[in-house]
Amino acid sequence: MKVRTRFAPSPTGLLHIGGARTALFNYLFAKHHGGEFVLRIEDTDKARSTQEAVQVILDGLDWLDLKADEAPVFQSSREARHVEVAMALLAQGKAYRCYCTPEELAQMRETAMAEKRPPRYDGRWRDRDPSEAPAGVKPAIRLKAPREGEVVLNDLVQGEVRVKNAEMDDMIILRSDGTPTYLHAVVVDDHDMAITHVIRGDDHLTNTFRQIQIYDAMGWETPAFAHIPLIHGADGAKLSKRHGAVSILEFREQGFLPEALCNYLLRLGWGHGDAEFLGRDEQIALFTLEGVGRAASRMDYAKLTHLNGMWLRQAEDARLRDDVVERLAKADITVGTAAMQRILALMPGLKERAKTLEELSNSSAFLAREIPLPFEPKAEALLSLEAREMLARLAGLLEGTDFTAEAIDAALRAFAEAEGRKLGQVAQPLRAALTGSTMSPGIDATLIALGKAEALARIRAVAA
Ligand code: GLU
Repeated sequence: MKVRTRFAPSPTGLLHIGGARTALFNYLFAKHHGGEFVLRIEDTDKARSTQEAVQVILDGLDWLDLKADEAPVFQSSREARHVEVAMALLAQGKAYRCYCTPEELAQMRETAMAEKRPPRYDGRWRDRDPSEAPAGVKPAIRLKAPREGEVVLNDLVQGEVRVKNAEMDDMIILRSDGTPTYLHAVVVDDHDMAITHVIRGDDHLTNTFRQIQIYDAMGWETPAFAHIPLIHGADGAKLSKRHGAVSILEFREQGFLPEALCNYLLRLGWGHGDAEFLGRDEQIALFTLEGVGRAASRMDYAKLTHLNGMWLRQAEDARLRDDVVERLAKADITVGTAAMQRILALMPGLKERAKTLEELSNSSAFLAREIPLPFEPKAEALLSLEAREMLARLAGLLEGTDFTAEAIDAALRAFAEAEGRKLGQVAQPLRAALTGSTMSPGIDATLIALGKAEALARIRAVAA
């Protein structure tokens, strides 16, 4: 049997990291078993589903490189099939029409509340003759669920969980307006899409028992279930906007690499020894559901940022350059061909010092700026009159120096000695003149990346 998993988000909110991790686990599980991963957009709640949310799901999965093996299925397009299955259950006597009015249902709820019982439908139409149906009331269709026995779920993460059938009422599968309920639609779709493993957030655990009742009524084999714990904020509370439970695409904007985010989300609540830095191939090779813990995990931005820095240092320079150019353009800094080359040339040094692409772009900006550079206050402070006079003399020397690391290094040392200064006392004002800041990769690498003409022009622009 081919393993098939699915990610089934509802486009009622923007895909966030919890959803992304569910998608990742489904993807890795399928690939680990040489199977298939598919996407189903559960857009049956027409009032709350938005096109924007659908787009974030598609773009987010694309960005994270969690590609589905088939075109996405939109649940709303399968309504006729959901109705068909409900009718089949009705025809087999496994479901029945319920003519309860909203008032009757409200009454049942109130009585239950007064008696401190969970609100439950009392099954009053379960065995009633349809000829007693009141005129003008459109019926809902309810599953004729077993009343004895229990549903036993052997969850691949939660272990064995049992619920007595007596604790569940006859759920509605088709509403009186003819639309399928969510619980029913999911079962029909998972069955038709030949899903073998349902991996989803543990907030769906209680739904599962009811869904198993539908599988049983249809005589369908149930898939395996794995309910994974949710991600909480650093304070242990359910993830909310306050914790940055924002669209997954905001992580892209903030400068996280998709492979770093996937790596982080995998390590969050899934363990494999001490392995921390894992690429996609290793993730696929190592991923099993046994490694998923049962406790909720906590989102830790510091850890994510640290991991991102590690991935950044591994990333190809040209890719980082392209990303930086895009970010600079968004900040209204146009990057010409010369600046592109400078950024690429200095990338090995730049990426050592950045933890996010946003930081990388900020630290690259000076390479694309034009004279006169903007100066940070600390850099400005380094450019005293004395320092400017020194820079004037240094410019003369660099004019005749080859722009290689060795030649520059030798020239700067000789210059510092002749001036009776420490090397740092030369390099600091020089860095300020070249970059407008007090931080940059090595001074020789920075000079070389700028090129002699641009470097001299920058020095002379501040030299006295
Ligand atoms: N559509 C549900 C959600 O977004 C998931 C349903 C499922 O995985 O079965 O929470």
